[in-house]
Amino acid sequence: MPLVTTKEMFKKAYEGGYAIGAFNINNMEILQGVLRAAKAKKSPVILQCSTGAIKYAGPQMLKAMVDAAVKEAGVDVALHLDHGPDIEAVKMVIDAGFTSVMFDGSHYDYEENVAKTKEVVEYAHARGVVVEAELGVLAGVEDDVEAAEHVYTEPAQAVDFVKRTGCDSLAIAIGTSHGAFKFPPDFKPQLKFDILEEIQKQLPGFPIVLHGASAVDPDAVATCNQYGGAIKDAKGIPEEMLRKASSMAVCKINMDTDLRLAMTAAIRKVFGDTPAEFDPRKYLGAGRDAVQKVVEYKIDNILGSTDAMNK
Ligand SMILES: [Zn+2]
Repeated sequence: MPLVTTKEMFKKAYEGGYAIGAFNINNMEILQGVLRAAKAKKSPVILQCSTGAIKYAGPQMLKAMVDAAVKEAGVDVALHLDHGPDIEAVKMVIDAGFTSVMFDGSHYDYEENVAKTKEVVEYAHARGVVVEAELGVLAGVEDDVEAAEHVYTEPAQAVDFVKRTGCDSLAIAIGTSHGAFKFPPDFKPQLKFDILEEIQKQLPGFPIVLHGASAVDPDAVATCNQYGGAIKDAKGIPEEMLRKASSMAVCKINMDTDLRLAMTAAIRKVFGDTPAEFDPRKYLGAGRDAVQKVVEYKIDNILGSTDAMNK
């Protein structure tokens, strides 16, 4: 099956009360792990590449690997640019064949964000590509994206922004956070459902996106640390809150940290348990299996997109 945009995916997800998982890919094993999970669960999926991933592997390499993997996936797959910093980055990946782009103008002032997003939307739509924009600021660190404090999205501004830019989906800030060190272990994370509800009321049918939504699985952190890692304890986003958001206007949930932690834990375990092992397929293969397991869990328990390809 060829790559698709997120247009139909989001429409079905909105109506069906579930969300599509967006997972960052950097190499073959992560890509295969994610797609094997999507195939096993008969769930559509979004593969996304940050500018960091593109610097690491190259846009053509990523696209060629995705094309090869998608052929046997048997589910709807979109290829998305995560946190596109400028129109040049957007143009580069559209040329490479991505079907969806994010333009993150959230660090600009409001009018500049509107103007730059609108420019990206016009360019992308003319080429059949959809655009995710961002309003509000998430705290945390993710590749090249870093912010110290949350700035929650204002519903009235979100409505104005969507109308003026023509973007296809909007990432909002309601309390999720980028990176592995989201909150201290004793913190009680809380998503602002009142903001989400108000946006949903004012923009009925419009797909909302949550970034920074990993759970930071304590078992994965513990395994990393048991096998020589030094990863700080942290609190992620509670599952039940994400499940609730998925049943509302949230159609796309980004989770990257949990895949990184699972893969690292699995590889560290192979190194720890079998120190004589030096075949990369043995430890990268274990990492790939771990990625698949995490993604299957997210599809069943957080996204609710299990069997969505059959509906
Ligand atoms: Zn993000």
